[in-house]
Amino acid sequence: MKDYLKENLREVKERIEEHCKLSGRNPDEVLLLAVSKTKPEEDIMALYEMGVRDFGENYVQELEKKREHLPDDIRWHMIGHLQKNKVKYIAGYVSMIHSVDSLLLAQVIEKEAAKHDRVIPVLIEVNVGEEDTKFGVSMEDAPKLAAEIKKMPHVELRGLMTSAPYVKDPEEDRPVFRKLRQLSVDMNLENDNNEKVVVLSMGMSNDYGIAIEEGSNCVRIGTDLFGARDYTK
Ligand SMILES: *Cc1c(COP(=O)(O)O)cnc(C)c1O
Repeated sequence: MKDYLKENLREVKERIEEHCKLSGRNPDEVLLLAVSKTKPEEDIMALYEMGVRDFGENYVQELEKKREHLPDDIRWHMIGHLQKNKVKYIAGYVSMIHSVDSLLLAQVIEKEAAKHDRVIPVLIEVNVGEEDTKFGVSMEDAPKLAAEIKKMPHVELRGLMTSAPYVKDPEEDRPVFRKLRQLSVDMNLENDNNEKVVVLSMGMSNDYGIAIEEGSNCVRIGTDLFGARDYTK
């Protein structure tokens, strides 16, 4: 086993605790989602053996291949842009889809979830910074999409997700996180579902400390856990 994985996990957990403390929050409220894209199954197993159960993947094909050989109690999160024709492959088991960015995609998820007689928890991906290079609906369109999703019996809207721009100083992303949090308040997501806390999936290796201070309860960490990704292979 690669020793650095253990060390990385320890450091990430420490930082989560540190930033929770800074903002008077309970670290138990923050889900650590290990983003395993491009990483081998043995690395996933290593973290699994250290107790991690939530893993995030970006590509359906890669997820499908990995899942075959990995334990059944892993909770798989789809965090990457999802094509409508790929939903059918993951609808039977995916734990949460973070990247719902259109009504058409939500409708396909509804249809495929119904076939499996299950309800799929989803987040609406919001392009807070309105960057051309990013997927996600605008802040303005999010409430409309939410209203449509709430009518769907096999799709459960659990919250919002965003990816902040990559910046040198993560402080610069604070306004992005603050806006997403405010949007969830404006959308009344918390009141609607008394028993459930709204999910705010925000914060990556570069900026999760700031995201936690601004209310994130799901940080998606790849690089800081697994090391840098190599896309050349
Ligand atoms: C790759 C990815 C992450 C993880 O990014 P790191 O910077 O490696 O922590 C998080 N969220 C999404 C949507 C991603 O595509």
